Amino acid sequence: MLNIDLHCHSNVSDGILPPAEVVARAAANGVHALALTDHDDVSGIAAAQAAADDAGLTLIAGVEISVSWGGQTVHIVGLRIDPTHPELAAGLHRIRLGRIERAQRMGVDLAQSGIDGAYEGATSHAANKQMVGRTHFARWLVAQGHAPDMRTTFKRFLTRGNPGYVEHEWTSLENAVGWIRASGGIAVIAHPGRYAFTARELHLLLDAFRALSGEGIEVITGSHHPSEYGKFADLARAFSLKASRGADFHAPGEGIDIGRLPALPHYCQPVWQGWPELAAHFSPSMA
Ligand code: AMP
Ligand code: MN
Ligand code: MN
Ligand code: MN
Repeated sequence: MLNIDLHCHSNVSDGILPPAEVVARAAANGVHALALTDHDDVSGIAAAQAAADDAGLTLIAGVEISVSWGGQTVHIVGLRIDPTHPELAAGLHRIRLGRIERAQRMGVDLAQSGIDGAYEGATSHAANKQMVGRTHFARWLVAQGHAPDMRTTFKRFLTRGNPGYVEHEWTSLENAVGWIRASGGIAVIAHPGRYAFTARELHLLLDAFRALSGEGIEVITGSHHPSEYGKFADLARAFSLKASRGADFHAPGEGIDIGRLPALPHYCQPVWQGWPELAAHFSPSMA
């Protein structure tokens, strides 16, 4: 069976490892095909592709786009995108500008709770100064001793109702899916189990996503508890969405490692079915 992992981060967004090291780690873990899906930025893909060529691994060009929908933040993964596509690149650039402005407001909000210098501190934890996010604030808060670990940090800070959380308008679902499709890619709803939607709201999201020609949904992800896999596999089938699998790896020791996930349930239609770049991994006897 092929080990396919279609969601991970490098230090181009809020991962710890440079893109080439993410690819090397995937290869060491036995991954055959890997999608690098940095938040709102595609500038790691060239280095990841070069490393994948060296390692004999298939790299899928990807991105994870931040969207506002239904009063919440929803993440849309784009797979097999063209990272040079002008419309996609321009859209992602606008999101990153919004991120910097949001990060400054987060710094002001934390200062009002007596924590000074957070914006500068978070930025110092970001290898890519254009892509500053809550993870960088969390790493700085842990390093400063404001919380013992990442999990506690997000509980005490940076989430709705807590210091460091500011409302922010990301791009629309329509824009995100539209840019992905314009660049030749496939749109996938990331970690549906993470959103605080009611069942009805989630169904509305899936309907809206399908109406925009979104095609896939993550079923097996590091963000889902194993007890949730069946629920989202059923949902994928009910809404005729293809199923995806990805660890959402960010850093060694944080969450599930690249490629270390169970297989998709047998009744799911994999999002990668029929991708020609995977054919090389099938031996003739398996074809
Ligand atoms: P942002 O896009 O800047 O709002 O940051 C979102 C990122 O924060 C996610 O992609 C995760 O990497 C991280 N994150 C969100 N919630 C948590 C949590 N409870 N624990 C650890 N990391 C989290
Ligand atoms: Mn992240
Ligand atoms: Mn996400
Ligand atoms: Mn992610």
